[in-house]
This record gives sequence, C-alpha cells and structure tokens, in this order.
Amino acid sequence: MTTVAAYAAPAAKAPLERTTIERRPVGEFDVLIDIKFAGICHSDIHQAREGWGEAIFPMVPGHEIAGVVSEVGPGVTKYTVGDRVGVGCLVDSCRECDNCKAGLEQYCTGGSVPTYNGVGKDGEPTYGGYSEKVVVDENFVVRIPDGLSLDEAAPLLCAGITTYSPLKHWNAGPGKKVAILGMGGLGHMGVKIAHALGAEVTVLSQSLRKKDDGLKLGADHYYATSDEATFKELAGTFDLILSTVSAPLNLDAYLSLLRTDGAFVNVGAPEEPVKLNLFSVIGGRKTLAGSGIGGIQETQEMLDFCAEHGFGAEIELISASEINEAYERVLASDVRYRFVIDAATI
Ligand SMILES: [Zn+2]
Ligand SMILES: [Zn+2]
Repeated sequence: MTTVAAYAAPAAKAPLERTTIERRPVGEFDVLIDIKFAGICHSDIHQAREGWGEAIFPMVPGHEIAGVVSEVGPGVTKYTVGDRVGVGCLVDSCRECDNCKAGLEQYCTGGSVPTYNGVGKDGEPTYGGYSEKVVVDENFVVRIPDGLSLDEAAPLLCAGITTYSPLKHWNAGPGKKVAILGMGGLGHMGVKIAHALGAEVTVLSQSLRKKDDGLKLGADHYYATSDEATFKELAGTFDLILSTVSAPLNLDAYLSLLRTDGAFVNVGAPEEPVKLNLFSVIGGRKTLAGSGIGGIQETQEMLDFCAEHGFGAEIELISASEINEAYERVLASDVRYRFVIDAATI
C-alpha cells in the first residue's frame, strides 16, 4: 500500500479537507499514475453532497484525471513509465457482458466500478482524482496525445466524452443542425466537438451572457431560452439537441424545436422526474433519449479527435485549497468553463 495526500469530503455536505488515503499495491495489470491535474465535474458536487442518494465517505471526488505513469505491473503491455495518460469515470467493469464486449463499459450490466464513490473488485472503496497518485488497471487508462496539454485534457475525460459520444452516435456532422443546450462545462465542449465534426451549431443558453465565448468556440448561432421569441423562430429546426442542463426543463417546448425524426438527447438530468406530453414526440416521429459518458475505446478516440483538431477544454486552474470555493462557483455557474486542480498543490 502507498499512502498519498488527497482532498476528501469527510461526510455529506461537509467541506473538503486535506487528508491521506491508501492506494493499493501495483498489481500485475496495474499502472501507478502520478496525477498532475484533476477537473472538477458538477457530479463531484452532487455526490459529495448526496444529491444523487447515499454515498460513501470519506469521499475523494474526481473523475477527470490527467497524469504520468510512474510504475507498471509485470503484465502491463499498453503503457510504460513516463507515458501521459488519463482516467475518466470508470476504473473497472465486469468485462464479460454484451455491453463490455461491445466497448460500452459505461453500460456494463455486470457491475462497473466508478472512479470514486464506488467499491472496487478488491472490496475497498474507490477514491478519485483529487489526490497525488492513483492505481488503475491498464484497460481503464487512456493515452493523452502529445498535442494536448495535461491541464486542458483533464476535463475531456468526463465533459469531453459525455458530449462526444452522443454527438457521434446521433451523427452530428456536415449538413446537420445541432443545438447545444447549456453553455457550461459540458456545453462548451459540446460546442467545440460539434463544430469540429462539421455540424451547424446553435447554442441555446438561458441568457446571452456567454454569447461571445460561444461564437469563439465554434457556434454559428446563439439564442437565449429566456426569450420566448427563440422558440417561435427556431420551431422545427434541429436534427439534434444535446441537453447538458440539470435544471428542470419544459421538454415539450424543446421538442418543438426538432425537425421530423430529430432527437433530443439528455446528458444532464434534474434530480426530480420530469413531465412530458407524449404528443410532443408522436408528431414528427421524434426521439427523446439519454446518453452516459462513453466507453474506454471511444474515450481514446475522443482524445485523439481533440488533439487532431487542436483543442482541449477551457479551464481555470486552481490550487487544491480553493476546491470548496470552486464548488460554490460551479453551483453559481461562475466558471469559464471548467475548474482544474493543480495536483502539485495537494
Ligand atoms: Zn463528470
Ligand atoms: Zn460488463
């Protein structure tokens, strides 16, 4: 076992504080990663505050991890010491179900292991990226291409793949009109990726406050959803709407913005069930769908895609002592567009 410094929430809703945790010995197929940067995802806050149900404490959040391999187990073939690597939301899965075999580990039916707030196959709780080091099976590690800086790459491990996967699945590309709903950590990556895929991109945001940023990141159009005229003007427009918001929405109003056979895909979700008039999907043969992160192979594909197109996330780099303040700012939508912790300050 290795003792490493970390930032943990000792109990639900308690502020995070510096502590130490034990990392397992490097096993046959494990790599030890010196963490350099860890992104702060909105879901870190949901889980540290038990917004999504009972959680495991102490909790070390963080599933947007970028670092460098510092040791490998004897059976490791994919990585060597010095490689730049990332870890996202999963650190293991059953590896046997149909979904795992299809590279859809995120939908594993035999039990996947989240990077934190989960229990590993060794029966021990998992701890995330707000720490100095992590030990992960090589099959759940991805390579960060040289073209990406590690700090800007970290948020791609959740925010990047969560938007890339549905944009690919629903064929965002040339000739397609894609709307990104919400211009936060996920949304700003959705804009960059949809634009790089060749789609005509519209941002639907509550206000026009971030319009300049949106256009700079690749959006062709930018509308405020607080303006009722937006819904009249854009009725029947989009092939795909990717919703990154977790606030309750008037789904019927948004479904009216889809053209025939269009899809409204949720990657964010409110804590309460939503109401829907099913005629909103019957007319126009529309799809209301959801999507969760992405598989390991697809995460690698996304990193390579971002490197090829020359972009990572837009980040605000912070020291570990600023995590609690950063959480409050995320809740107030006051971040452009992802906080990333400099792990050297842990
Ligand atoms: Zn996340
Ligand atoms: Zn599985």
